[in-house]
Amino acid sequence: MLQKLTAVLMVVASLGFLARSAKAQVAPPAQAGPLQWKCAWPFGVPNRTAADADSAVRMIKSVGFNAFAVGGGTSEFKQGIVQACRKGGVAIYWVLNPVYGEWGWHLEKGVIPPTVDCLQQYDDLAKLNTASTPDDVVYAGPWLCIDRPEVRQFAVEMAKACIRNYSPDGLALDFIGYKNLQGCQCSYSRAQRAAFAKAHLELSPEQAAVQFSLTSITAVYDQIRAVSLTENPKIKLMCHVYPPFVPEPIYGNRLAVEYPAQTVSWFFIPHWPLQKVSERCGLIKETEKKYHDYVTGTAFIGVYDDDKSRKSPQRIHEELQTIKQAGIHGFCIAGDLSFLTDTPQARALSEELGGTLHLSPASQPAAGAQ
Ligand SMILES: [Zn+2]
Repeated sequence: MLQKLTAVLMVVASLGFLARSAKAQVAPPAQAGPLQWKCAWPFGVPNRTAADADSAVRMIKSVGFNAFAVGGGTSEFKQGIVQACRKGGVAIYWVLNPVYGEWGWHLEKGVIPPTVDCLQQYDDLAKLNTASTPDDVVYAGPWLCIDRPEVRQFAVEMAKACIRNYSPDGLALDFIGYKNLQGCQCSYSRAQRAAFAKAHLELSPEQAAVQFSLTSITAVYDQIRAVSLTENPKIKLMCHVYPPFVPEPIYGNRLAVEYPAQTVSWFFIPHWPLQKVSERCGLIKETEKKYHDYVTGTAFIGVYDDDKSRKSPQRIHEELQTIKQAGIHGFCIAGDLSFLTDTPQARALSEELGGTLHLSPASQPAAGAQ
């Protein structure tokens, strides 16, 4: 009897499989390709209740992600999101932005921010506070000077507090760099840069300036990594490699993080030509293990569902295909909730990431769908 029942169930299961196969002929089959680490970094996730946390993780999984960069919210949400990620098998990366202060530093209890004389300073500050191009957007507002030891110490204390307070699987770092995309011009930075140049006479002044900034940026990550591993030897670090660094745009693999998410396609229209996406992916792959054996080359794309930015489902497919063709294993997408609601764009992502959203019956056409 049991055998017969098993046989019947197998036939039913096979029919279900055939039905799915038939459907797969219409839509491409779910394929993550070489992508292994797939991170969602959404802005504006509802973050009040434990139910918000459950719902976010359910959606993250259905689109095919296995990592979630998130932070902030009520204490109920903060506790709930860690639990929901653990339960759902999604790695949680706590967002930490220790340099850019426009939104406040979301200070963890007991951590004291540096004083205002530690802010980055520039000769053309007024221009920097207003100028921004769609490709190299630089946010106006206070940025801490990462050349200064007290700023690095602040970043370290914040990292330590986040790990202790929330026990995430990792940290998601952002905004570690220079507002002018090259180097700070405060008196401390000028003096340090001059001393660096004097100690490296083999370099031209321009080379020394570039090297000084790169050394400074990487030092911040080195220090955060050291303290993070002391707090939790299994911790993983990721970052959005932002702001850009003009002298070496693809510098992320230098950073002491497992997943340095480097921009291969920015948010705004006109979207970067696929040739540029492909070239950036190639550079990421080429230098993947050049500096650290633990780095996974990671491509970052941005999406907003508005008229200045919107990417079509076709464009999402093309960007993901380009990333996969480069043999890249890490992927991170940031933007509004359009990629975590049932939109054609989210369905395109689901197909590319091996999710299940695109296999579910289509809901109403989403606003902004193309
Ligand atoms: Zn400075």
